[in-house]
Amino acid sequence: MTVVIMKFGGSCLVDNKAFNKIYNITKLYEKQKKIYVASAFNGITDILLKTALQVSDAKKVDDNIAFIEKRHMDVIEQIFEEDSIYYISAKDWVDAKMAELENVFADIKEFGLEPYYQDYVLSFGEILSTFILHQYLMSKSLDSLFISANDLIVTNDEFNNAYPLYNLTNARVRTQIVPFLENPNKDTIFSVTGFVGRNKIGYITTLGRGGSDYTATILARAVYEEGSDKDVKVVLWKDIDGLLAINPKYVPNSSLIKSIDYKEAKAIANFGAKVLHPKCLEAIEKKHIPLEIRNFDKPEEEINFTKITTESDKQQIKGISAEEEGTIITLISGTMVDIPGVLGNIFKIMGKNGISVSFVAQSSTEISTSFFVKSEDSEKAIKALKDEYFGSDFFELKWDVVSIINITGLKVLENKTKAQIFNALDKKEIPVKAISQSYEELNISIVVKKDHMIDAIKAIHDEIQ
Ligand code: ASP
Ligand code: MG
Repeated sequence: MTVVIMKFGGSCLVDNKAFNKIYNITKLYEKQKKIYVASAFNGITDILLKTALQVSDAKKVDDNIAFIEKRHMDVIEQIFEEDSIYYISAKDWVDAKMAELENVFADIKEFGLEPYYQDYVLSFGEILSTFILHQYLMSKSLDSLFISANDLIVTNDEFNNAYPLYNLTNARVRTQIVPFLENPNKDTIFSVTGFVGRNKIGYITTLGRGGSDYTATILARAVYEEGSDKDVKVVLWKDIDGLLAINPKYVPNSSLIKSIDYKEAKAIANFGAKVLHPKCLEAIEKKHIPLEIRNFDKPEEEINFTKITTESDKQQIKGISAEEEGTIITLISGTMVDIPGVLGNIFKIMGKNGISVSFVAQSSTEISTSFFVKSEDSEKAIKALKDEYFGSDFFELKWDVVSIINITGLKVLENKTKAQIFNALDKKEIPVKAISQSYEELNISIVVKKDHMIDAIKAIHDEIQ
Protein backbone atom coordinates (compact mmCIF):
# COMPACT_ATOMS: atom_id res chain seq x y z
CA MET A 1 0.00 0.00 0.00
CA THR A 2 1.30 3.45 -0.86
CA VAL A 3 2.41 5.66 1.99
CA VAL A 4 2.06 9.37 1.23
CA ILE A 5 3.79 11.98 3.31
CA MET A 6 2.07 15.30 2.67
CA LYS A 7 3.25 18.68 3.77
CA PHE A 8 0.74 21.49 4.21
CA GLY A 9 2.35 24.93 4.15
CA GLY A 10 1.07 27.97 6.00
CA SER A 11 -1.09 29.00 3.05
CA CYS A 12 -3.02 25.71 3.40
CA LEU A 13 -4.00 26.52 6.98
CA VAL A 14 -5.61 29.94 6.76
CA ASP A 15 -9.34 29.48 7.33
CA ASN A 16 -12.30 27.17 7.27
CA LYS A 17 -12.22 26.92 3.49
CA ALA A 18 -8.60 25.85 3.54
CA PHE A 19 -9.17 23.21 6.21
CA ASN A 20 -12.06 21.89 4.14
CA LYS A 21 -9.67 21.46 1.26
CA ILE A 22 -7.43 19.37 3.48
CA TYR A 23 -10.45 17.24 4.25
CA ASN A 24 -11.17 16.83 0.53
CA ILE A 25 -7.56 15.90 -0.13
CA THR A 26 -7.80 13.32 2.64
CA LYS A 27 -10.79 11.79 0.85
CA LEU A 28 -8.92 11.77 -2.46
CA TYR A 29 -6.08 9.84 -0.84
CA GLU A 30 -8.43 7.57 1.07
CA LYS A 31 -6.75 4.40 -0.09
CA GLN A 32 -3.24 5.45 0.93
CA LYS A 33 -1.62 5.51 4.33
CA LYS A 34 -0.97 9.09 5.30
CA ILE A 35 1.45 11.18 7.30
CA TYR A 36 0.66 14.90 7.42
CA VAL A 37 3.35 17.46 8.15
CA ALA A 38 2.20 21.00 8.89
CA SER A 39 4.03 24.31 8.81
CA ALA A 40 3.24 27.19 11.10
CA PHE A 41 0.41 29.53 10.13
CA ASN A 42 1.65 32.18 7.69
CA GLY A 43 3.91 34.75 9.30
CA ILE A 44 3.93 33.16 12.76
CA THR A 45 7.54 31.98 12.65
CA ASP A 46 8.64 35.48 11.65
CA ILE A 47 6.76 37.10 14.49
CA LEU A 48 8.11 34.57 17.00
CA LEU A 49 11.62 35.38 15.88
CA LYS A 50 11.01 39.10 15.97
CA THR A 51 9.68 38.87 19.49
CA ALA A 52 12.62 36.79 20.66
CA LEU A 53 14.91 39.53 19.37
CA GLN A 54 13.14 42.29 21.31
CA VAL A 55 12.26 40.76 24.67
CA SER A 56 13.31 43.90 26.49
CA ASP A 57 10.22 45.64 25.12
CA ALA A 58 7.58 44.16 27.45
CA LYS A 59 4.69 45.75 25.62
CA LYS A 60 5.83 44.34 22.28
CA VAL A 61 6.12 40.88 23.84
CA ASP A 62 2.59 41.11 25.26
CA ASP A 63 1.15 42.47 22.02
CA ASN A 64 2.81 39.79 19.93
CA ILE A 65 1.68 36.98 22.20
CA ALA A 66 -1.86 38.37 22.03
CA PHE A 67 -1.61 38.55 18.25
CA ILE A 68 -0.37 34.95 17.93
CA GLU A 69 -3.14 33.76 20.24
CA LYS A 70 -5.78 35.63 18.26
CA ARG A 71 -4.57 34.29 14.91
CA HIS A 72 -4.98 30.74 16.18
CA MET A 73 -8.24 31.37 17.99
CA ASP A 74 -9.73 32.94 14.84
CA VAL A 75 -9.10 29.72 12.95
CA ILE A 76 -10.28 27.54 15.83
CA GLU A 77 -13.53 29.50 15.92
CA GLN A 78 -14.04 29.01 12.22
CA ILE A 79 -13.29 25.32 11.95
CA PHE A 80 -14.88 23.89 15.11
CA GLU A 81 -18.33 24.02 16.55
CA GLU A 82 -18.11 26.17 19.64
CA ASP A 83 -17.70 24.13 22.82
CA SER A 84 -17.26 20.86 20.97
CA ILE A 85 -14.56 18.67 22.48
CA TYR A 86 -12.27 19.56 19.56
CA TYR A 87 -12.81 23.25 20.11
CA ILE A 88 -12.05 22.91 23.80
CA SER A 89 -8.94 20.75 23.29
CA ALA A 90 -7.57 23.13 20.68
CA LYS A 91 -8.28 26.20 22.79
CA ASP A 92 -6.75 24.61 25.90
CA TRP A 93 -3.67 23.76 23.86
CA VAL A 94 -3.30 27.31 22.63
CA ASP A 95 -3.76 28.65 26.18
CA ALA A 96 -1.15 26.30 27.59
CA LYS A 97 1.32 27.04 24.81
CA MET A 98 0.87 30.79 25.24
CA ALA A 99 1.70 30.47 28.94
CA GLU A 100 4.78 28.42 28.05
CA LEU A 101 5.82 30.94 25.42
CA GLU A 102 5.56 33.75 27.92
CA ASN A 103 7.94 31.85 30.18
CA VAL A 104 10.42 31.32 27.37
CA PHE A 105 10.46 35.02 26.58
CA ALA A 106 11.04 35.73 30.28
CA ASP A 107 13.96 33.27 30.23
CA ILE A 108 15.41 34.93 27.17
CA LYS A 109 15.18 38.28 28.89
CA GLU A 110 17.06 36.85 31.85
CA PHE A 111 19.67 34.72 30.07
CA GLY A 112 19.95 36.12 26.55
CA LEU A 113 18.91 34.61 23.25
CA GLU A 114 21.00 31.44 23.26
CA PRO A 115 20.70 29.46 20.00
CA TYR A 116 18.70 26.85 21.89
CA TYR A 117 16.15 29.42 23.02
CA GLN A 118 15.72 30.65 19.50
CA ASP A 119 14.79 27.18 18.27
CA TYR A 120 12.53 26.58 21.24
CA VAL A 121 10.66 29.80 20.45
CA LEU A 122 10.46 29.09 16.71
CA SER A 123 9.02 25.64 17.31
CA PHE A 124 5.79 27.06 18.72
CA GLY A 125 4.38 27.92 15.29
CA GLU A 126 4.30 24.30 14.13
CA ILE A 127 3.34 22.97 17.55
CA LEU A 128 0.24 25.18 17.51
CA SER A 129 -0.77 24.71 13.87
CA THR A 130 -0.30 20.95 13.80
CA PHE A 131 -2.29 20.32 16.95
CA ILE A 132 -5.16 22.32 15.46
CA LEU A 133 -4.93 20.28 12.26
CA HIS A 134 -4.95 17.10 14.33
CA GLN A 135 -8.10 18.17 16.17
CA TYR A 136 -9.69 19.16 12.88
CA LEU A 137 -9.11 15.72 11.38
CA MET A 138 -10.63 14.10 14.45
CA SER A 139 -13.62 16.44 14.30
CA LYS A 140 -14.23 15.01 10.82
CA SER A 141 -14.31 11.49 12.28
CA LEU A 142 -10.86 10.69 10.95
CA ASP A 143 -8.37 8.89 13.12
CA SER A 144 -5.41 11.19 13.77
CA LEU A 145 -2.39 10.84 15.99
CA PHE A 146 -0.51 14.01 16.94
CA ILE A 147 3.25 13.73 17.18
CA SER A 148 5.42 16.69 17.98
CA ALA A 149 8.51 16.07 15.89
CA ASN A 150 10.77 16.81 18.81
CA ASP A 151 9.73 13.32 19.91
CA LEU A 152 10.53 11.87 16.53
CA ILE A 153 13.29 13.57 14.59
CA VAL A 154 16.66 13.39 16.31
CA THR A 155 19.22 15.86 15.01
CA ASN A 156 22.76 17.05 15.56
CA ASP A 157 23.42 20.05 17.79
CA GLU A 158 23.40 22.66 15.08
CA PHE A 159 20.63 24.86 16.41
CA ASN A 160 18.69 26.88 13.80
CA ASN A 161 19.92 24.66 10.98
CA ALA A 162 20.04 21.12 12.30
CA TYR A 163 20.71 17.94 10.35
CA PRO A 164 18.87 14.72 11.11
CA LEU A 165 20.65 11.75 12.63
CA TYR A 166 18.97 9.14 10.50
CA ASN A 167 19.70 6.04 12.56
CA LEU A 168 18.19 7.49 15.69
CA THR A 169 15.28 9.05 13.84
CA ASN A 170 14.55 5.83 11.99
CA ALA A 171 14.48 3.89 15.23
CA ARG A 172 11.73 6.18 16.51
CA VAL A 173 9.78 5.98 13.30
CA ARG A 174 10.08 2.20 13.48
CA THR A 175 8.41 2.04 16.88
CA GLN A 176 6.00 4.97 16.72
CA ILE A 177 4.76 4.99 13.14
CA VAL A 178 5.52 1.83 11.19
CA PRO A 179 3.31 -0.52 13.28
CA PHE A 180 0.28 1.63 12.39
CA LEU A 181 1.20 1.83 8.73
CA GLU A 182 1.52 -1.94 8.55
CA ASN A 183 -1.70 -2.69 10.34
CA PRO A 184 -4.37 -3.14 7.65
CA ASN A 185 -7.11 -2.46 10.19
CA LYS A 186 -5.78 0.95 11.09
CA ASP A 187 -6.52 4.10 9.19
CA THR A 188 -4.54 6.47 11.33
CA ILE A 189 -3.30 9.75 9.90
CA PHE A 190 -0.17 10.99 11.63
CA SER A 191 -0.16 14.73 12.23
CA VAL A 192 3.47 15.71 12.67
CA THR A 193 4.91 19.16 13.31
CA GLY A 194 7.17 20.37 10.52
CA PHE A 195 10.49 22.13 10.99
CA VAL A 196 11.14 20.85 14.51
CA GLY A 197 13.52 18.24 15.91
CA ARG A 198 15.52 17.54 19.06
CA ASN A 199 19.13 16.83 19.76
CA LYS A 200 20.30 13.76 21.64
CA ILE A 201 19.96 15.35 25.04
CA GLY A 202 16.44 16.50 24.34
CA TYR A 203 16.75 20.15 23.43
CA ILE A 204 14.48 21.38 20.64
CA THR A 205 16.24 22.11 17.36
CA THR A 206 14.93 23.43 14.04
CA LEU A 207 15.84 22.41 10.52
CA GLY A 208 16.39 25.84 8.97
CA ARG A 209 13.79 28.30 7.70
CA GLY A 210 11.25 26.69 5.44
CA GLY A 211 12.30 23.36 6.96
CA SER A 212 8.91 21.65 7.00
CA ASP A 213 9.58 20.32 3.49
CA TYR A 214 12.64 18.71 4.98
CA THR A 215 10.60 17.13 7.78
CA ALA A 216 8.41 15.50 5.15
CA THR A 217 11.34 14.03 3.25
CA ILE A 218 13.14 12.88 6.42
CA LEU A 219 10.01 10.98 7.44
CA ALA A 220 9.59 9.56 3.93
CA ARG A 221 13.08 8.19 4.04
CA ALA A 222 12.60 6.70 7.50
CA VAL A 223 9.32 5.04 6.48
CA TYR A 224 10.97 3.74 3.32
CA GLU A 225 13.88 2.27 5.25
CA GLU A 226 11.95 0.90 8.19
CA GLY A 227 8.69 -0.22 6.63
CA SER A 228 8.19 -3.27 4.47
CA ASP A 229 6.43 -1.31 1.76
CA LYS A 230 8.71 0.65 -0.54
CA ASP A 231 5.92 2.49 -2.25
CA VAL A 232 6.48 5.82 -0.52
CA LYS A 233 5.99 9.31 -1.90
CA VAL A 234 6.05 12.92 -0.75
CA VAL A 235 3.54 15.58 -1.76
CA LEU A 236 4.20 19.21 -0.92
CA TRP A 237 1.01 21.27 -1.19
CA LYS A 238 1.78 24.84 -2.21
CA ASP A 239 -0.06 27.89 -3.45
CA ILE A 240 1.36 27.51 -6.96
CA ASP A 241 1.28 24.75 -9.58
CA GLY A 242 4.87 23.66 -8.99
CA LEU A 243 8.35 24.74 -9.96
CA LEU A 244 8.51 27.31 -12.72
CA ALA A 245 11.37 27.41 -15.20
CA ILE A 246 11.73 31.16 -14.80
CA ASN A 247 10.66 33.64 -12.21
CA PRO A 248 7.46 35.18 -13.69
CA LYS A 249 8.92 38.56 -12.77
CA TYR A 250 11.21 38.16 -15.81
CA VAL A 251 8.97 36.28 -18.22
CA PRO A 252 5.24 36.29 -17.45
CA ASN A 253 4.32 33.09 -19.25
CA SER A 254 7.02 30.96 -17.74
CA SER A 255 6.55 27.25 -18.23
CA LEU A 256 5.85 24.80 -15.44
CA ILE A 257 8.46 22.12 -14.89
CA LYS A 258 6.59 18.84 -14.91
CA SER A 259 9.36 16.31 -14.76
CA ILE A 260 12.73 17.00 -13.21
CA ASP A 261 15.39 14.83 -11.66
CA TYR A 262 16.91 15.21 -8.20
CA LYS A 263 20.15 16.79 -9.38
CA GLU A 264 18.44 19.41 -11.48
CA ALA A 265 15.96 20.15 -8.71
CA LYS A 266 18.79 20.60 -6.20
CA ALA A 267 20.57 22.96 -8.55
CA ILE A 268 17.55 25.21 -8.96
CA ALA A 269 16.59 25.06 -5.29
CA ASN A 270 20.06 26.41 -4.54
CA PHE A 271 19.59 29.22 -7.02
CA GLY A 272 16.73 30.55 -5.00
CA ALA A 273 13.68 28.71 -6.37
CA LYS A 274 12.12 29.45 -2.98
CA VAL A 275 9.42 26.87 -3.64
CA LEU A 276 11.56 24.02 -2.43
CA HIS A 277 13.78 23.78 0.63
CA PRO A 278 17.31 23.24 -0.72
CA LYS A 279 18.17 20.52 1.77
CA CYS A 280 15.02 18.46 1.48
CA LEU A 281 16.04 16.38 -1.54
CA GLU A 282 19.13 15.16 0.25
CA ALA A 283 16.94 12.86 2.36
CA ILE A 284 15.18 11.09 -0.51
CA GLU A 285 17.49 11.22 -3.50
CA LYS A 286 19.47 8.07 -2.80
CA LYS A 287 16.30 6.08 -2.12
CA HIS A 288 14.64 7.38 -5.29
CA ILE A 289 11.56 8.42 -3.34
CA PRO A 290 9.42 10.59 -5.64
CA LEU A 291 8.37 14.06 -4.58
CA GLU A 292 5.48 16.03 -6.04
CA ILE A 293 4.84 19.73 -5.72
CA ARG A 294 1.14 20.39 -6.18
CA ASN A 295 -1.28 23.26 -6.11
CA PHE A 296 -3.44 23.12 -3.01
CA ASP A 297 -6.33 24.56 -5.04
CA LYS A 298 -6.14 21.83 -7.67
CA PRO A 299 -5.76 18.55 -5.80
CA GLU A 300 -7.14 16.50 -8.67
CA GLU A 301 -4.79 17.93 -11.28
CA GLU A 302 -3.35 15.14 -13.39
CA ILE A 303 -0.81 16.91 -15.58
CA ASN A 304 0.13 20.32 -14.30
CA PHE A 305 2.26 19.70 -11.26
CA THR A 306 5.97 19.08 -10.67
CA LYS A 307 7.28 15.60 -10.16
CA ILE A 308 10.84 15.08 -8.93
CA THR A 309 12.15 11.58 -9.59
CA THR A 310 15.15 9.97 -11.29
CA GLU A 311 13.54 10.84 -14.62
CA SER A 312 13.74 14.17 -16.35
CA ASP A 313 12.26 15.81 -19.38
CA LYS A 314 15.57 16.36 -21.12
CA GLN A 315 14.01 18.69 -23.64
CA GLN A 316 13.24 21.34 -21.09
CA ILE A 317 15.51 23.87 -19.49
CA LYS A 318 14.79 23.61 -15.77
CA GLY A 319 15.62 27.05 -14.67
CA ILE A 320 16.76 30.44 -15.76
CA SER A 321 17.53 32.49 -12.71
CA ALA A 322 19.61 35.56 -12.06
CA GLU A 323 21.79 37.17 -9.50
CA GLU A 324 20.60 40.59 -10.43
CA GLU A 325 23.46 42.71 -9.23
CA GLY A 326 26.97 42.16 -8.10
CA THR A 327 30.53 43.06 -8.96
CA ILE A 328 32.81 41.13 -11.20
CA ILE A 329 36.41 41.67 -10.23
CA THR A 330 39.11 40.90 -12.76
CA LEU A 331 42.80 40.51 -12.07
CA ILE A 332 44.98 40.77 -15.13
CA SER A 333 48.59 39.78 -15.30
CA GLY A 334 51.09 38.73 -17.89
CA THR A 335 53.09 36.85 -15.35
CA MET A 336 50.54 34.81 -13.51
CA VAL A 337 51.74 31.66 -15.19
CA ASP A 338 54.97 31.92 -13.28
CA ILE A 339 53.59 32.69 -9.88
CA PRO A 340 52.12 29.61 -8.29
CA GLY A 341 49.41 30.10 -5.71
CA VAL A 342 47.89 33.28 -7.14
CA LEU A 343 44.40 31.84 -7.18
CA GLY A 344 44.95 30.41 -3.73
CA ASN A 345 45.95 33.84 -2.47
CA ILE A 346 42.99 35.60 -4.04
CA PHE A 347 40.53 33.28 -2.39
CA LYS A 348 42.39 33.26 0.90
CA ILE A 349 42.05 37.05 0.99
CA MET A 350 38.33 36.78 0.22
CA GLY A 351 37.91 34.10 2.88
CA LYS A 352 39.80 36.09 5.50
CA ASN A 353 37.44 39.00 4.90
CA GLY A 354 34.32 36.87 5.07
CA ILE A 355 33.48 37.48 1.39
CA SER A 356 31.89 34.65 -0.51
CA VAL A 357 32.70 34.20 -4.17
CA SER A 358 30.01 32.71 -6.37
CA PHE A 359 31.42 32.65 -9.86
CA VAL A 360 34.94 32.15 -11.13
CA ALA A 361 36.27 32.24 -14.67
CA GLN A 362 39.83 31.84 -15.78
CA SER A 363 41.01 30.91 -19.21
CA SER A 364 43.76 28.36 -19.46
CA THR A 365 46.24 31.04 -20.51
CA GLU A 366 45.98 32.31 -16.93
CA ILE A 367 46.31 35.91 -18.03
CA SER A 368 43.19 37.07 -16.27
CA THR A 369 40.97 35.74 -13.56
CA SER A 370 37.46 37.03 -12.93
CA PHE A 371 35.19 36.36 -10.01
CA PHE A 372 31.88 37.62 -8.72
CA VAL A 373 31.10 39.09 -5.31
CA LYS A 374 27.92 40.53 -3.88
CA SER A 375 27.53 44.32 -4.29
CA GLU A 376 27.73 44.91 -0.55
CA ASP A 377 31.10 43.13 -0.45
CA SER A 378 32.65 44.73 -3.49
CA GLU A 379 34.40 47.70 -1.87
CA LYS A 380 35.86 45.51 0.86
CA ALA A 381 37.01 42.95 -1.72
CA ILE A 382 38.74 45.51 -3.94
CA LYS A 383 40.43 47.20 -1.01
CA ALA A 384 41.66 43.92 0.40
CA LEU A 385 43.14 42.94 -2.95
CA LYS A 386 44.84 46.32 -3.37
CA ASP A 387 46.28 46.12 0.12
CA GLU A 388 47.96 42.84 -0.67
CA TYR A 389 50.52 42.66 -3.45
CA PHE A 390 47.82 42.73 -6.14
CA GLY A 391 48.07 46.51 -6.18
CA SER A 392 51.56 46.21 -7.60
CA ASP A 393 52.80 46.82 -11.13
CA PHE A 394 52.49 43.14 -11.97
CA PHE A 395 48.73 43.15 -11.72
CA GLU A 396 45.94 45.23 -13.07
CA LEU A 397 42.68 45.24 -11.16
CA LYS A 398 39.34 45.99 -12.84
CA TRP A 399 35.74 45.75 -11.75
CA ASP A 400 32.28 46.22 -13.16
CA VAL A 401 28.66 46.02 -12.02
CA VAL A 402 27.03 43.01 -13.65
CA SER A 403 24.33 40.36 -13.47
CA ILE A 404 24.80 36.62 -13.63
CA ILE A 405 22.28 34.54 -15.48
CA ASN A 406 22.18 30.86 -14.54
CA ILE A 407 20.70 28.37 -16.97
CA THR A 408 20.10 25.00 -15.41
CA GLY A 409 19.11 21.54 -16.56
CA LEU A 410 20.43 18.42 -18.24
CA LYS A 411 19.80 20.19 -21.51
CA VAL A 412 22.71 22.56 -21.02
CA LEU A 413 25.07 19.62 -21.36
CA GLU A 414 24.22 19.61 -25.08
CA ASN A 415 26.36 21.73 -27.33
CA LYS A 416 23.34 22.61 -29.37
CA THR A 417 21.75 24.31 -26.37
CA LYS A 418 24.88 26.34 -25.75
CA ALA A 419 24.95 27.36 -29.38
CA GLN A 420 21.33 28.46 -29.10
CA ILE A 421 22.03 30.50 -25.97
CA PHE A 422 24.90 32.41 -27.55
CA ASN A 423 23.05 32.85 -30.82
CA ALA A 424 20.10 34.30 -28.97
CA LEU A 425 22.34 36.80 -27.20
CA ASP A 426 24.19 37.65 -30.37
CA LYS A 427 20.94 38.38 -32.24
CA LYS A 428 20.07 40.94 -29.56
CA GLU A 429 23.63 42.28 -29.61
CA ILE A 430 24.14 41.53 -25.95
CA PRO A 431 27.82 41.03 -25.18
CA VAL A 432 28.72 38.15 -22.89
CA LYS A 433 31.34 39.33 -20.41
CA ALA A 434 32.28 35.96 -18.90
CA ILE A 435 31.03 32.39 -18.79
CA SER A 436 31.46 29.45 -16.51
CA GLN A 437 30.44 25.83 -16.63
CA SER A 438 32.35 23.24 -14.68
CA TYR A 439 32.86 19.68 -15.80
CA GLU A 440 29.56 17.84 -16.23
CA GLU A 441 27.90 20.80 -14.58
CA LEU A 442 24.15 21.11 -15.04
CA ASN A 443 24.42 24.82 -14.88
CA ILE A 444 25.93 27.39 -17.16
CA SER A 445 26.49 30.89 -15.82
CA ILE A 446 26.71 33.91 -18.07
CA VAL A 447 27.81 37.34 -16.97
CA VAL A 448 26.23 40.33 -18.72
CA LYS A 449 26.05 44.02 -17.96
CA LYS A 450 23.28 44.70 -15.51
CA ASP A 451 21.31 46.79 -18.05
CA HIS A 452 21.20 43.82 -20.38
CA MET A 453 19.92 41.27 -17.90
CA ILE A 454 16.19 41.31 -18.61
CA ASP A 455 16.66 41.35 -22.40
CA ALA A 456 19.16 38.55 -22.13
CA ILE A 457 16.84 36.36 -20.06
CA LYS A 458 13.98 36.94 -22.48
CA ALA A 459 16.14 36.19 -25.48
CA ILE A 460 17.45 32.95 -23.97
CA HIS A 461 13.98 31.93 -22.86
CA ASP A 462 12.43 32.53 -26.30
CA GLU A 463 15.20 30.60 -28.01
CA ILE A 464 15.42 27.48 -25.89
CA GLN A 465 12.09 26.86 -24.18
N1 ASP B 1 7.60 27.75 9.84
C1 ASP B 1 8.95 27.58 9.39
C2 ASP B 1 9.39 28.80 8.63
O1 ASP B 1 8.61 29.70 8.40
C3 ASP B 1 9.13 26.33 8.61
C4 ASP B 1 8.30 26.21 7.37
O2 ASP B 1 7.42 27.02 7.12
O3 ASP B 1 8.53 25.29 6.62
O4 ASP B 1 10.52 28.87 8.25
MG1 MG C 1 6.62 29.05 6.37
